[in-house]
Amino acid sequence: MTIRHLRRLRIWIALVFFMLTLFLFLDFRDFGLRVIAGEVLYLQFVPSLLQFLDNATLGAAGFILVLMLTLVFGRVYCSFVCPLGIFQDLISRLARKRMANPGEKKRTSRFSGSRPHYFLWYAVLSLTVLLFFAGTGLMLNLLDPFSSFGRIVSHLFRPLVLGANNLGVPLLEQLGSHALYRVQWPVFVPAATGIALATLMVVGWLSARHGRLYCNTLCPVGALLGLFSKISMFRIRIAPDACDSCRQCQRVCKAGCIDLKEKTVDVRRCVACFNCLAACPGQGLAIQNHWRQPARQNPAKPGRRGFLIGLAAAGMGLGSSRVDAGPVNSADSSDPVDPVNSADSAVQTRPTTIPETRTGPISPPGSVSVARFSSLCTACHLCVSVCPSRILVPALLDYGLSGMLQPKMDFRSGHCNYDCKDCLEVCPTGAILPLSRENKQQVQVGVARFIKENCVVYTDNTNCGACSEHCPTKAVDMVHYLTLPDRDLLIPKVNPDICVGCGGCEYACPTKPYKAIYVDGNPVHRKAEKPVEKAVEQRIDTSEEFPF
Ligand code: SF4
Ligand code: SF4
Repeated sequence: MTIRHLRRLRIWIALVFFMLTLFLFLDFRDFGLRVIAGEVLYLQFVPSLLQFLDNATLGAAGFILVLMLTLVFGRVYCSFVCPLGIFQDLISRLARKRMANPGEKKRTSRFSGSRPHYFLWYAVLSLTVLLFFAGTGLMLNLLDPFSSFGRIVSHLFRPLVLGANNLGVPLLEQLGSHALYRVQWPVFVPAATGIALATLMVVGWLSARHGRLYCNTLCPVGALLGLFSKISMFRIRIAPDACDSCRQCQRVCKAGCIDLKEKTVDVRRCVACFNCLAACPGQGLAIQNHWRQPARQNPAKPGRRGFLIGLAAAGMGLGSSRVDAGPVNSADSSDPVDPVNSADSAVQTRPTTIPETRTGPISPPGSVSVARFSSLCTACHLCVSVCPSRILVPALLDYGLSGMLQPKMDFRSGHCNYDCKDCLEVCPTGAILPLSRENKQQVQVGVARFIKENCVVYTDNTNCGACSEHCPTKAVDMVHYLTLPDRDLLIPKVNPDICVGCGGCEYACPTKPYKAIYVDGNPVHRKAEKPVEKAVEQRIDTSEEFPF
């Protein structure tokens, strides 16, 4: 393989990473890829870095591998692994093809060298780092390329795929095939969709017109890796004697980092796509080992190296806060019945009057506490995508401004399936820890609270008990309330010790607009007691004759 083939190698590797990542977000049929989500997403820079800061193990050290690769080969992460980077390449390729059609303006059919925007780039990086160490990940949430890509796919592409699936169901049925089935729409959160759309428009426009300008002006990961690549070992260099300035390399350089006048390649902005190597018709470009150069033209400044070392040291210092997920215990797994199809919901005759007083958001099981969750989640919405009950929805200001768009549990559209641990299997940042099923079934994310004055048993003197019926741990008991001439009325009573806050009762409760039973979040998750199995006493009357 010659250096000209590096471009082809890059394209194949990038396609594999891109397709796997895309499929993780779109896999609504659960083809099993989410079980290996950790391996698929191991090299995603920011998720891995955050996971490492929380839990310094090799399994969370993908970002170190990325940094080492950058020190050797330059910003290969940006061209081989980053889904937003590869997505930009696809957009810019499509745009250039379109503009290259005969009769159309050829302006964007080729790139040209451009000047760097270091001030903006480093300002974004500095602000991101400063805010992060000040305790807010807002900049990361908005600009981390993996999370931006995740939100675009979750909120814009996934609904299209689900819509296409649902349209295809009747068509296939007419042909006698039942390979597809209808699926529910994702919960629509205007702010999340709006931000995803805005990101797509900015990234799409920049990549269509200017290649990787987003990566080289706004991306904090690009800026950090650019600093590392400044001291990388292998770099593309122009051989002044062999280069006749035909501009072929400059025209395919989407980073705009080739300066033919000076015969230099700006290694900080170079995203290691190797397009230039393939395009050069002669021997004008070569890969050179800069660590072997006797005299370097641009030695890394000690100040900058100190900044990088300081950053790494700060990260290592924070890496000791591993959270113990608690011992493994077993519990019965009986899932609540789907309240939508349940016929037992009582009819309410007048609206409820007492609002639920939720004291805070409910973070997913495995997140340990709201504070921990909010500090680690980058709002990539992979958990939102895979949640089969659609109860993980992007929050607005529930976690504060810095937690904008991070997912919270919302039981208006469903409940947390007692047996499900899909979100625990996919989170790449470690914001949601992977617990065993038994462990998850004892995590108390919140506790059910009962408002008697809203309950139809109290307001309408009618039987209900939907909450108790749908509680998987039987934490909602029905106790004696009133004896009427024709019947006994029972009313709910919550046992907070075994309640896990799954929202089964809240979702099932038929009262409107306010629920008579709702889950209030635990700021720090607790461990619920194991529900006690009641033995069903079954007496067989053996005195009678065998009936048949
Ligand atoms: S909690 Fe969800 S949104 Fe946040 S980083 Fe993990 S998977 Fe992404
Ligand atoms: S609290 Fe329980 S019993 Fe009362 S209305 Fe809601 S579901 Fe029915």
